[in-house]
Amino acid sequence: MSRFELTVWGARGSIPAPAAANTRFGSDTSCVELRCGERTILLDAGTGIVPCGRKLYEEKVHDFDVLLTHCHFDHIMGLPFLIPLYKDHVSTRIFAGHFFDATTCRNMVERFMRPPYFPVTPKQFAARIDYRDFRPPEMIELGDGILVRTFRLNHPNGAVGFRVEYAGRSVCYITDTEHEPGRLDRDLCDFVAGAEVMIYDSTYTDDEFERYAGFGHSTWQQGVRICEAGNVASLIISHHDVLRTDEWLEALETEAKARFAGAMVARTGLTLSI
Ligand SMILES: [Zn+2]
Ligand SMILES: [Zn+2]
Repeated sequence: MSRFELTVWGARGSIPAPAAANTRFGSDTSCVELRCGERTILLDAGTGIVPCGRKLYEEKVHDFDVLLTHCHFDHIMGLPFLIPLYKDHVSTRIFAGHFFDATTCRNMVERFMRPPYFPVTPKQFAARIDYRDFRPPEMIELGDGILVRTFRLNHPNGAVGFRVEYAGRSVCYITDTEHEPGRLDRDLCDFVAGAEVMIYDSTYTDDEFERYAGFGHSTWQQGVRICEAGNVASLIISHHDVLRTDEWLEALETEAKARFAGAMVARTGLTLSI
């Protein structure tokens, strides 16, 4: 069977959360690595992409794709520190498609990496970088049998969910997004239907949700309801609030597994064979 693996490099939302109470689940923000056969795909470029990039460099992975859900800081702040981008033998394609206006992926990276906010500009990247634009629900063919479906999510300034399909299996990456209380988005359930894994924005619990209306995030319980409606085997609860400690997240994992056997809580280093 073809290799299809997932590794979580960062599971925090909003900002990194380094603290002694957070060592087991990790402190880095959003980044997930997928290996599809010989291909490497990075979902988001939060601070988790920095150690991931070091490992790719050590393993001599000189070609990879980066799919960005959106450009809030927690999803792109690792990009300027992605070591392989400063190596001239590396090739990469960076995709973004959440914009509501004519902004392009290249514009976005150029605007965010420039003085006085940051001393290094993308001109200093030595790698061959191909900035790619798309608009959901456009499909992206990455080649080698890898198909990425895209879905517009409900988030301030926009965000895009991805469904990566390879060798008859699928991983869905659904962050950041806010649901309507008491309602299941049938289109989203159809989008993730039958997938092996869904990684889901679980910033809040159902009990907290009302207080954070309009913040653009969801709950782990909604993730469970979507998995049940879409017949998704495993739910990875992710985008943890900065104040969630290891102890809190471990208790959450016990509670979530009792509710839905396929639930697990994302932590740095979590690796799954799809
Ligand atoms: Zn976020
Ligand atoms: Zn966001």
